[in-house]
Amino acid sequence: MTRTISVVNQKGGVGKTTTAINLSAFLAKLGYKVLLVDIDPQGNASSGFGLRVTDLEESIYDVLVDEPKQLDSIIKKTKISKLHLAPANTNLAGANIELVSMPRREFKLWDNISTISHKYDFVIIDNPPSLGILAINGLVAADEVLIPVQTEYYALEGLSQLLHTIELVRQNLKPELKILGAVMTMYDGRSKLSESVFYELYKYFPNKIFRSIIPRNVRLAEAPSHGKSIYEYDNRSKGAKAYEKLAKEIAEAKRF
Ligand code: ATP
Ligand code: MG
Repeated sequence: MTRTISVVNQKGGVGKTTTAINLSAFLAKLGYKVLLVDIDPQGNASSGFGLRVTDLEESIYDVLVDEPKQLDSIIKKTKISKLHLAPANTNLAGANIELVSMPRREFKLWDNISTISHKYDFVIIDNPPSLGILAINGLVAADEVLIPVQTEYYALEGLSQLLHTIELVRQNLKPELKILGAVMTMYDGRSKLSESVFYELYKYFPNKIFRSIIPRNVRLAEAPSHGKSIYEYDNRSKGAKAYEKLAKEIAEAKRF
């Protein structure tokens, strides 16, 4: 059965895209069929796999708006054989407004993913840094939510609002939605701050913080500029090891 996991945090720059790209890559390396769906107008998950997003003829925007295209028709292969990508670019910014007046506006992504999810073991959704209609689509389409939390002083700011939004989605739109867990990103073991963020985070997610902690690692930051996941760019780096471990942990996690 397909597991659809949405990578969500309305806070910007916390490692959502880095997590979505590298989790997808390592799940594919483990032998799973994976579809990565980019629903951020920034298109970082798409350019991170080497796509020139400004040149895209069709993207997830064309799937979500009026007279939609089939999701199947916009999906691209990546250099990783079991990993496919549904790309996004700045066109998608318009969808924020266009979706507002459309019927089933919160269900657009789910309706579309449902038509093809049987082809995949995992669908991973990379969300924009907001809790607008796109991210609501990203939550409604998912079975499970993965929350990257940057290990820094302001990390927990906004988490209450995020959890409240997830609860509202659960009550009104998608009762089956579950929180898979939080993953700490950009962890610096030398700093006392990292430890204290862990303890604070634990109050929000008792028993739901992944054992795999993603270190701050320059190779992870470099990889997207080469259009590669860390698995392709530097499989021996600490960042690669951490994301490989996370992928295994998630693959083995009981679904609910
Ligand atoms: P946005 O909210 O804009 O979508 P995001 O949450 O998707 O951002 P990323 O784009 O993944 O965050 O990461 C933000 C920046 O930090 C990027 O430049 C990325 O390369 C870098 N980065 C992410 N994770 C790490 C890490 N573990 N070590 C070093 N740099 C990282
Ligand atoms: Mg991003």
